[in-house]
Amino acid sequence: MTRVYNFSAGPAALPEPVLSRAAAEMLDWHGSGMGVMEMSHRGREFGEILAHAEARLRELLAIPSSFKVLFMQGGAIAENAIVPLNLSRGGVTDHVITGLWSIKTHKEAQRYCEARVVASNEAPGERNHTALVPPAQWRLSPDAAYVHLCSNETINGLETHELPDLKALGSDAPLVIDCSSHILSRAIDWSRVGLAYGGAQKNIGPSGLTLVIVREDLLGHALPVCPSAFDYATVAANGSMYNTPPTWAIYIAGLVFDWIADQGGVAALEQRNIAKARLLYEAIDASGGWYVNRVAPGARSRMNVPFFLKDERLNDAFLAEANERGLVQLKGHKSVGGMRASIYNAMPLEGVQALVTHMREFAARHG
Ligand code: PMP
Repeated sequence: MTRVYNFSAGPAALPEPVLSRAAAEMLDWHGSGMGVMEMSHRGREFGEILAHAEARLRELLAIPSSFKVLFMQGGAIAENAIVPLNLSRGGVTDHVITGLWSIKTHKEAQRYCEARVVASNEAPGERNHTALVPPAQWRLSPDAAYVHLCSNETINGLETHELPDLKALGSDAPLVIDCSSHILSRAIDWSRVGLAYGGAQKNIGPSGLTLVIVREDLLGHALPVCPSAFDYATVAANGSMYNTPPTWAIYIAGLVFDWIADQGGVAALEQRNIAKARLLYEAIDASGGWYVNRVAPGARSRMNVPFFLKDERLNDAFLAEANERGLVQLKGHKSVGGMRASIYNAMPLEGVQALVTHMREFAARHG
C-alpha cells in the first residue's frame, strides 16, 4: 500500500492511526459485535461514543461550560441559513467580507434578515481578497444581532490570526465565526466568540458532520420558520439527538480528537502548523517570482496556501509531475486558478518538505 501526500482542501487527509483504528474496529467496536455504522444512535454504545467525542473536544479547545456543543448536519453552507434563522430575529446582521466563503454567507443571510456588509476586501484584479480590513475600520451596526466573520477563507487563503474584540469596538453583538477550515489548528479565544461553526471534512473527520459551538444565552430565539431539526435550542435540548445524528462521522471525529490529544493537543499542533506554513511560504517567496502567493503576509493562512506559477502554461506539467511523486490534489479552486496546498493538521511536515522539493526541482527543470 502506498499512501500519497494529499493536499485536498476537503474532504481532506485523515491521520493514518485514525484510519487504521477505524479499520480494526470496523466489524466489532469494543466487543459489541457490531460496527459503529450499524449501531442505534439511542443505544448505550453510541451514547458512549458521542459523550467521549464531546468531552474530548471540550478539553482540546477549552470550551467553557456556558457553551453548547452541537453535532449537526448540512455543512457550513447550511449554517449560512441556520445561523440567521436562529440568531438574527429577522433584524440586522453585520458581515465582514474576506473572500468567497463570506460572500456566500452574506448572500444567504439576506434571505432571512437585513444582512449588511460592514467591511470588504474586494479589490480590482490581482488584489482581490488578498488583505484583511482591520477591525477598527469595520462599520459595525449598533443594532446588529451578530457579526459574521469567516476566520479562515479556504479558497483565497486568508486567515484572521487574532479574533476581533467586538466589545472594545463598541459592539455588544456576538461574533459568529465560520472556522470550517482551521478549527483545531489553533486555540480559540471564547471570550470573543458567540458561536463557532464548521464542517468536519477538513480538520475533524468525514463530511456529513457539522460542529456548532454556541453560547447558551443565544439559544431560544429561532424564527418560527426555522426547521425544528435546525433549531439550536431543540438540538441542544436533545443532546444532538433530535434527529439521527451522523453517527459514523461523530465516531471518526472522536478518534481524530484522541489523535490530537496524543500529539500533545492543539497547542502542539499549532506549533507544527506554523512550521509547515513557514516552510511553504518561504519556498514561494524565495523562488524569485517562479511561484507567487499574493496574500498580505499578516493575513496568510496556515491551512490553505494558494500559489500561482509565473508561467501558467506549466500548470498541467506541475500537477502531473507532482502526481508522479505522490503529491496529489494541488490544483487551485476553479474560481481562482493556479495551485492550492491545504496543509491541515493531518499533513505531516514531511509532506510539505516533499512539496517544496518538487517546487524547487520543477523550477530548475523548466527554468
Ligand atoms: N465555509 C468554508 C470556510 C469552507 O471552507 C467550506 C467548504 N470548503 C464551506 C463553508 C462549505 O462547506 P460545506 O460544503 O460543507 O457546506
